[in-house]
Amino acid sequence: MRSQRAWIAILFVLLAAAAVTQHRRSTLREPSSILQPPSTTRYRGPHPNSVFVILIDTVRADRLSCYGYRAHETPNADRLAAGGVRFDNAWSTASWTRPSVGAIFTSLYPTQLGLVERPAPAGKHWAVRERREQLSVDLPEDETTLAEVLHRAGFTTAAFVNQPALNNQQGFQQGFDDWYYPSSMDEVRRLDPSTATTVQSWLSIEYANRADALLADAFDRWLADHAGDSRLFGYVHFLTPHRPYLPKPPYAPQVTGRKPTDSELYDGEVRMADALLGRVLDSIEQRRGEDGTLIVFVSDHGEEFKDHGMMEHGHSLHREVTRVPLIMRSPLLPAGKVVHAPVRNIDIMPTIVDLAGLKCGGMMGVSTLSLIHGGGPELPVYSEAMLYGSTERSLISGGYKLMYDAQGVHWRLFDLRNDPLELHDLSNEELERLQELRQELQRAHLALNRGYLHRLEHYEHRLSPEQRKENEKRAKEALKALGYID
Ligand SMILES: [Zn+2]
Repeated sequence: MRSQRAWIAILFVLLAAAAVTQHRRSTLREPSSILQPPSTTRYRGPHPNSVFVILIDTVRADRLSCYGYRAHETPNADRLAAGGVRFDNAWSTASWTRPSVGAIFTSLYPTQLGLVERPAPAGKHWAVRERREQLSVDLPEDETTLAEVLHRAGFTTAAFVNQPALNNQQGFQQGFDDWYYPSSMDEVRRLDPSTATTVQSWLSIEYANRADALLADAFDRWLADHAGDSRLFGYVHFLTPHRPYLPKPPYAPQVTGRKPTDSELYDGEVRMADALLGRVLDSIEQRRGEDGTLIVFVSDHGEEFKDHGMMEHGHSLHREVTRVPLIMRSPLLPAGKVVHAPVRNIDIMPTIVDLAGLKCGGMMGVSTLSLIHGGGPELPVYSEAMLYGSTERSLISGGYKLMYDAQGVHWRLFDLRNDPLELHDLSNEELERLQELRQELQRAHLALNRGYLHRLEHYEHRLSPEQRKENEKRAKEALKALGYID
């Protein structure tokens, strides 16, 4: 009896150990590397002849009804999702516009593009002006953009951009035959004399909204003018939900006896942006039709409403800033599909290049087509590039998210499966996992910086001695901040 009980005990222990090992294997499954994107099977089906990327600035995924929001409806994003593929776990590699759009345009990380801030000296923060000066960097001309790849393949290309962060810098225009933007209030007024004349700022509501509406008109005209072109690529970038939040009727929040909160006002702007999306979808459907058309809808980053104590974007890499909507619709893709596996904004370009049957070397992202069809590797999500405050980095891998903050609590760890809102820091509880992810993040950061240095060396002859010195300083400080050099 005793020996039987002992055997049962031993068996139980063995089974438990096996279960634990199995569990560890499944949760600690080695994801593919940040630095070496895995190769995926090439797409061999028919190709799209019209490709449209619609980026609406500052849209949190969780404020769209197709992403589960219940306080309002976003019918146009919903109809796009119903007819296409919705990525439920899509992440931006950056916390603000320029590095995020740079990553979308090139499938490279912001560090590789030089679009990241310089870490501040210990105990200090850069002033907003200092940070902005550091970040006034052009998109490198020597990198290959999505527009260039499509242009070379015979696509007529045009961009419609209402975002000064892109219009004020060189390099984003690479590969576009036309780059349309309402460059000044004067132009907006010329095109629409009814617009108010007292506008002070480019972000003022009259300007931003009129400019977005003009952009939608210009896009429609361009589609009409190029009806005979066999291949078209259009990029549309609306600014609407960006601050200040001043939604107009009928999108203004209905509250009585109090002022609406920023979050409620933002929701009104998200609904306005959804209406703009609807206008663009109508134009494409009417002028270009569904056949052979690929539409990609994405945002560059989300927005914070004190979810983790901060407002706006550019301050942190928490979910409310980096989780973005991403929807792709084409008759070449399944309709009504939801992909739960994580994807990054750097995967958009490889997916379009793959679907179009084209090639482009050196991309850091991967085509999502195998993920859409239920296969494919698990992709690690590396994010960086801050506009304000401390330098941060984050890594999502194996269902966990590691956050690095150069000046605050250095390392935080979240279990995204059980704590998707990133509220409970496990860095003191799961030391082994913390260590593993920390090494992965440091390896990636070091190598990306080395790549950046190498690129600088390669193009050194083009730089002035001052620029060279400045770049060297900048790269060294980045390495120093993570303790790689003294
Ligand atoms: Zn933005």
